[in-house]
Amino acid sequence: MLEKFLKEYVSIVAGSGTDKIVDVLFKKKNVNEFLIAKKLNMTINQTRNILYKLADSGLVRFMRKKDLKSGGWYTYFWTLDEHKCLVNYKNSLTNEISIQESILAVMKIRQFYLCKNCNLEVSDEQALLNEFTCTECGEVYSLKDSAEGVKEIEKIILKLTEKSSQIQVEIDKLIASKPAKSEPAKKKTKKSTSSKSKKPVKKERKKAKPASKKRKKK
Ligand SMILES: [Zn+2]
Repeated sequence: MLEKFLKEYVSIVAGSGTDKIVDVLFKKKNVNEFLIAKKLNMTINQTRNILYKLADSGLVRFMRKKDLKSGGWYTYFWTLDEHKCLVNYKNSLTNEISIQESILAVMKIRQFYLCKNCNLEVSDEQALLNEFTCTECGEVYSLKDSAEGVKEIEKIILKLTEKSSQIQVEIDKLIASKPAKSEPAKKKTKKSTSSKSKKPVKKERKKAKPASKKRKKK
């Protein structure tokens, strides 16, 4: 269940097909970005694009290490933040639920009309304009029972709510499985290796800190 939710949410955030990255990062820590690219069968830039998108939403964390063999460039190591993924996923569902609820509210107060001959449906405004008579066949409209549409939306809301509570179960499991003092772990991974070598840092591969460039979209 956990893995399934993680994949679903990664696809939502980084685009369809990107969920394979969950297979590579799941239950692991600090995975070398070149290894990720290899396992995904992608170029390093394609891989970084996915990782940056996830990093923008805080779904992955990184640490970097200077690789002295390759001239002091940095290599990044990535960790999937499962907890953050689930929390964000749940929040997005909560959002969707409230949208569906407002649609439902509209459905309950507005009326629709129907020509039973032509199986045509019109809004109340349109029905008024047509003087409550079908423009195709002349039949008088009948008031449409919105019960079916309402039921449909209620079903959607129920599904979303169920999924949301399943995600909450996974969140609770994650929290329970973690030792209580584990929260400052973040800090450790963020810092780069304090350079004990005096060798000056050469150009980093591509733009250095992915998380620091704030590419806020929307
Ligand atoms: Zn008609």
